[in-house]
Amino acid sequence: MAKIKLALYWASSCGGCEIAQLQIGEKLLKLIEAADIVFWPVAIDVKYKDVEAMPEKSIDVCLFNGAIRTSEQEHMAKMLRDKSKTMIAYGACANYGGIPGLGNLYNREMIFDRAYFETQSTDNEKKVTPQTSIDVPEGKLSLPEFYDTVKSLPQTVDVDFIIPGCPPEEKTTWLALEALIQNKLPPKGSIISHNVKAVCDDCPRTKNEKKVKKFYRPFEIESDPEVCLLEQGILCAGVATAGGCGAPCPKANMPCTGCYGPVKGVTDQGVHFLGAVASIIDSTDPEEIAKIIDDIADPAGTFYRYSLPDSMLRRAKV
Ligand code: SF4
Ligand code: SF4
Repeated sequence: MAKIKLALYWASSCGGCEIAQLQIGEKLLKLIEAADIVFWPVAIDVKYKDVEAMPEKSIDVCLFNGAIRTSEQEHMAKMLRDKSKTMIAYGACANYGGIPGLGNLYNREMIFDRAYFETQSTDNEKKVTPQTSIDVPEGKLSLPEFYDTVKSLPQTVDVDFIIPGCPPEEKTTWLALEALIQNKLPPKGSIISHNVKAVCDDCPRTKNEKKVKKFYRPFEIESDPEVCLLEQGILCAGVATAGGCGAPCPKANMPCTGCYGPVKGVTDQGVHFLGAVASIIDSTDPEEIAKIIDDIADPAGTFYRYSLPDSMLRRAKV
């Protein structure tokens, strides 16, 4: 039987997805038995021009991680889509914009100001910032354009499947790779995960009526390890997040931050989480409610940590 032709690519991401792909450990041998890796810039020496030379749809599956922040990433997403029969968005950044998507609270100028002029360790008297092209004695050098707005992969090209997580848990990665090896991929558009109900469904903590007078950050309170964190005023996104990860964060006494994305049927994870939080505030007095809400540090990062580009808001108007 012909081996599967597999491509892997990273766009705007931290590299965690690449490490997560290696977390399958010895199962990597099973993967290599069934698949030839034809493109994987982080691990093998294949040039962009080699991919350009491949016929359309000659790659069977592309696992694409990372958001689209630059013109190079957009070009690669489009090229890999053309060359691949199946495009899989791997991880929260590819699926929803992820942590890089929080850059949509700013614009390019604000980000460059911070990165190239304002940071304490920066010495940049000539106010140099990256240019898309510059002439040097040796010729013209070019850099990709840095976009104002981060986009997800599905906002850029047609995507066949989603593998959620920041990064995906090893068991989620293997669920997808095993289905690929056995030619048993689910219908187009599926989220490949063990459980598409909420993280709360996998969470062993006891759940009672939720009535909260004060919200805490995890370090501000010694929480009860047996009881739902949200009931104790710790903002746990498990109520608004698809399960399948096995709830490792609440099991380790940390709130879920939402990396597996929205539960099935929900388009805006942040609104869903916000609605859940609003419904547990134990007051009808507007002044008291305002005071309780004031305890929520970093609302954008809390409600849209991984999903701002994919949300109804998309970006801040700045
Ligand atoms: Fe567990 Fe968090 Fe859901 Fe509470 S809100 S049951 S702590 S996942
Ligand atoms: Fe991600 Fe939440 Fe699962 Fe932790 S519990 S791995 S943050 S979805």
